[in-house]
Amino acid sequence: VTDSAQKTVRTTCPYCGVGCGVLARPEADGSVTIAGDPDHPANFGRLCSKGAALGETLSLRDRLLHPQIEGQEVRWDEALDFVAERFTAAIRQFGPDSVAIYGSGQLLTEDYYVANKLMKGFVGSANIDTNSRLCMASSVAGHKRAFGSDTVPGNYRDLELADLVVLVGSNLAWCHPVLHQRLMAAKAVRPDMRIVVVDPRRTVSADGADLHLPIRADGDIALFAGLLQHLATRDSGSDYAAAHTLGSQAAILAVRNWDLARVAEATGIAERDLSTFYSWFVGTENVVTVYSQGVNQSATGSDKVNAIINCHLYSGRIGRPGMGPFSVTGQPNAMGGREVGGLANMLAAHMDFTPDAIDRVGRFWGAKRMAQKPGLRAVELFDAMAAGRIKAVWIMGTNPVVSMPDADRVRDALKTCPFVVVSDMTARTDTAELAHVLLPAAPWGEKDGTVTNSERRISRQRPFLAPAGEARPDWWMITEVARRMGFAKAFPYNSPGEIFREHALLSGFENGGKRDFDISGLLAGGYETMDPTQWPVRETPTARLFAGGEFYTPDGKARLLPITPPPPITRVPGRLMLNTGRVRDHWHTMTRTGKTARLSAHFAEPFVEIHPEDARRLGIRKASLVRLARGGREAVVRALVTERQQPGNVFVPMHWTGQFASSGRVDALVAPQIDPVSGQPALKMSTVTVEPW
Ligand code: SF4
Repeated sequence: VTDSAQKTVRTTCPYCGVGCGVLARPEADGSVTIAGDPDHPANFGRLCSKGAALGETLSLRDRLLHPQIEGQEVRWDEALDFVAERFTAAIRQFGPDSVAIYGSGQLLTEDYYVANKLMKGFVGSANIDTNSRLCMASSVAGHKRAFGSDTVPGNYRDLELADLVVLVGSNLAWCHPVLHQRLMAAKAVRPDMRIVVVDPRRTVSADGADLHLPIRADGDIALFAGLLQHLATRDSGSDYAAAHTLGSQAAILAVRNWDLARVAEATGIAERDLSTFYSWFVGTENVVTVYSQGVNQSATGSDKVNAIINCHLYSGRIGRPGMGPFSVTGQPNAMGGREVGGLANMLAAHMDFTPDAIDRVGRFWGAKRMAQKPGLRAVELFDAMAAGRIKAVWIMGTNPVVSMPDADRVRDALKTCPFVVVSDMTARTDTAELAHVLLPAAPWGEKDGTVTNSERRISRQRPFLAPAGEARPDWWMITEVARRMGFAKAFPYNSPGEIFREHALLSGFENGGKRDFDISGLLAGGYETMDPTQWPVRETPTARLFAGGEFYTPDGKARLLPITPPPPITRVPGRLMLNTGRVRDHWHTMTRTGKTARLSAHFAEPFVEIHPEDARRLGIRKASLVRLARGGREAVVRALVTERQQPGNVFVPMHWTGQFASSGRVDALVAPQIDPVSGQPALKMSTVTVEPW
């Protein structure tokens, strides 16, 4: 415990993209008291079960406390020299694209900024991607195609102001619990407000809805094609489309044959329920459509996003209170990563790889060697590693051997990679076991910086504990390696505040209102005392964008895209459709939530949700063990027989790892299929065999 014992620190929760404010008070006995921050505009004092249990996750058990080379503890200098040498040697011998960084939505914005700058401005390669690719890359692509920028138009307050909230592929009650609490509290005050849940499973979120549409896996485009067709037939909102958009005629042409009967056939939803949903949408001015991984994690994820946005643009339901398409991000700082350019296809500060932007960012950074083109996206990156093209990789704060699709192949790729560096808070992860160098990273509670939540709100994450052992922040490690690679002048940082200042200056550099991401106005206040603030901030924060119908395309008009529903997924005889996702009380690969008995009590072991008809047909009894298999990989989990699941489909949570129960490592079964537009893996549509164990 630091000198600050007895002092309460304002910080933010390290889990989901709601980004709740947390008050953390270190106590004299070494414990930490956690409470929701009543003044944080994301949660106003609320916390969910995970957030409330944060104080129970801070033990040093399993912590990585010292740098290691090949399993031997070494001094920091030795480890950093070694990493710099090996990266420099690989670049010299095989070129800039032979090295890579794979980061995480758990990194703070300052960590992300320095890593991105090193790769894209000094190594000269854009081979820096992140587990955020698995989370919201399809939303990024959809936003950019529609708005000309990766902009979330609205905010959490809009969900409370709406008269109709549509949740698509989002189990908000479990995956973004505090936002769901806010929604349900608003509905309690205004019972006429309607909630529609579009999900193949009857989730807890569906229990709280006025209408549940149990859609067939990947039926979302057909559902929203039908809605656009319905809106067009009634000419709803066409004035807005004419004034502020391009492409509406082609978009409507693409869906012209999608009447109720055809949508019902493609989605498996009863015509009566479709009709109810469509009439509610058409008859309600204030509609917010919230979407998450059920939309994004698909081979057609970007088209799904644009099919949703098309309906909002066509009907003008955007840019005003209580309306708009709204993407909720899975991770605490997926948005911050997007802002600095921490994805292989983005340059920096929401700029792309255009000649102008490359020149602008290069001048700002004083770059040594600017990357000229997008780099490898997550799945492609590990494919390139398997093919021997990546000679050195640095993995920061994530466990791809568990979380990537076809995870065994990722493990095999890392085994063959000549040099693997892992910086993490945890000593033994499935990925750390394959590292040549382990660097102890300061985790939540010890690190200092900023994060951005799903409503574009930048908040400070502040430390309240001294770093354990020799743990250091990621930005510090990257800075030290950059200096050792010969780039000391461009990496002068001694604090996260200095990095944030540079990031903010870059966002405003030669901007003049042309780019959405501009936080140069945030510099007026102090970094240490910064209040949670929504960007853009040129002079004042911006709660809602596109109010005037102006977008970030060259002509200022948004784009509707002609999106025709794809053919239905071919069902393979003898196989069930595998859907993966989260449970309420665990986070990612459980390195933190796995430490508390209270959270583990919700689900103590990995399981498969299976419909009673399938269970009966396959001879699977309640609570028996079940083997799921695909392509020679298998997982063994407990059967949870439930009518919440649709026949022909199963659901398995993605949290369990080789460290906790090797049998539940479900992402080993997921096919490495990606959305070609966004590069996001289709984590919800593999087919598996299912049988008693
Ligand atoms: Fe943390 Fe998300 Fe729960 Fe808020 S809703 S306390 S950010 S996990």
